[in-house]
Amino acid sequence: MDKGGLVYFQKTEADKEWDRRCEEEGFVGHPPYVEWFCEEHYPIAKKYSSLTRWEAMAAIKKELSSYPIEENEKK
Ligand SMILES: [Zn+2]
Repeated sequence: MDKGGLVYFQKTEADKEWDRRCEEEGFVGHPPYVEWFCEEHYPIAKKYSSLTRWEAMAAIKKELSSYPIEENEKK
């Protein structure tokens, strides 16, 4: 199960602020609007990438309500 990938969601204002701060202060970190998904959930996540991560995670969880999403994808 290593064929998953990163999904870049729509940036919120707070996310854009995070980008600006990163650039100005030169730090590197995990962007709040990027999430890694496993092979099974990647296509579903991709489908919602036009939403912000928060909206997308809610939509994904709703779609997956019949089977659980992994702990590392909950956050
Ligand atoms: Zn998954």
